[in-house]
Amino acid sequence: MKKGLMLVISGPAGSGKGTVNAHLFKTGDFVYSVSATTRAPRPAEVDGVNYHFISKEDFLSRIEHGDMLEYTEYCGNFYGTPLKEAEEVLASGKNLILEIEVEGAENVKKKYPDAVLVLLLPPSYAVQEQRLRGRGTETEEKITERLARAKEEIAHASSYDYVVYNYDGKDAEAAEQILAIVSAEKCSLARNTSVAEDYLKV
Ligand code: 5GP
Repeated sequence: MKKGLMLVISGPAGSGKGTVNAHLFKTGDFVYSVSATTRAPRPAEVDGVNYHFISKEDFLSRIEHGDMLEYTEYCGNFYGTPLKEAEEVLASGKNLILEIEVEGAENVKKKYPDAVLVLLLPPSYAVQEQRLRGRGTETEEKITERLARAKEEIAHASSYDYVVYNYDGKDAEAAEQILAIVSAEKCSLARNTSVAEDYLKV
């Protein structure tokens, strides 16, 4: 069984990660890595589906026990990728999507150099601001904090392998581009090291 691909998708708040990723999940080839977080659930978010909503004590204890593949503190809350769940998905041959921020993405690449890092961006900072305010799920303070964080994060763009833009109403196209990236990666010789051996096998 060939191991699945670890696909990291980062995007600032308002990049449309959720919508774009929903297209990827429809293909049935991807599994979402459900992160643990100490943030409070937003309306309509479901525990165990969107996140594992846990206490700060629980989060810190999981770090101590080595249960997190990576973790970060983002705008006052902890977020982390559960290690065991991630490894089980990859071993099953399915592709795993980690929807995480920049620092986490960089840590994943250090630990798993064959992970593929995609940066999903709104067309511009101005559009991002409009989308965030239009969403209406955060307070003005949180919006300002997230926009400031987006400015910091864009400075790390060069840590990524690919950039995909999510234009208004074009989320299906952005998802198509990500699927093309995954196909190309799967054909890369770096991931197919036994080509000659397999070819000559009777
Ligand atoms: P939100 O609060 O909007 O759901 O997430 C805030 C940020 O944390 C987003 O950029 C999201 O991608 C990131 N994030 C979610 N889960 C994780 C995780 O497990 N690890 C890291 N490093 N970032 C995460």
